[in-house]
Amino acid sequence: MRIVLMGPPGGGKGTQAGILKQQWQIPHISTGELLRAAVRDGTPLGLQAKATMDAGELVSDDLMLGLIEARLSQPDAAAGFILDGYPRNLSQAESLDVVLARIGQPVSGALLVEVDPEHIVERLAKRAEQEGRSDDDETTVRKRLAIYAEQTAPVAHYYARQGQLVRVLGEGGIEEITQRILAAVEQAGWP
Ligand code: AMP
Repeated sequence: MRIVLMGPPGGGKGTQAGILKQQWQIPHISTGELLRAAVRDGTPLGLQAKATMDAGELVSDDLMLGLIEARLSQPDAAAGFILDGYPRNLSQAESLDVVLARIGQPVSGALLVEVDPEHIVERLAKRAEQEGRSDDDETTVRKRLAIYAEQTAPVAHYYARQGQLVRVLGEGGIEEITQRILAAVEQAGWP
């Protein structure tokens, strides 16, 4: 199973991906996590990406493509993967298709976890207290939501046009949302 997990920032994708990776025994690849690790480790990529991330903006497509290609070529990704946070715009979606076609492992489908943006501002205010992420203050959160609406939401249409999009309501309890996702994916019959 090679899934693109989509949804607004702070909409609970990361939590669900953590559960689904156990269920399906495939890696959860979060580009945000990979970037935060690069920042922590002070790698050249981390140094280049930090200011952009703190501003709530998107890191360049070139840097992201290098990062995702390197991660997808790791042996564990041969079993499948859950992509979380990539692709974030149409250009990344097209690049991903090219990379995956090259290795003969096309995306099985995209799962869109839908959450009301106003609930997100509340959720992220809580996460800012718990995790102290530098991009969770309210102004940056609103910026990230605007970028999501402008650049990332069209990616869902991209997959929908190819008949590869499944939508799930991301409101409610964690377990309840997981069950909705599992049922929707089973119904979709993705390879
Ligand atoms: P996330 O944890 O997915 O919300 O990502 C945190 C931040 O990392 C984003 O606000 C962006 O600055 C950056 N980022 C993560 N994934 C991407 C991507 N695919 N393209 C560009 N920037 C990204």
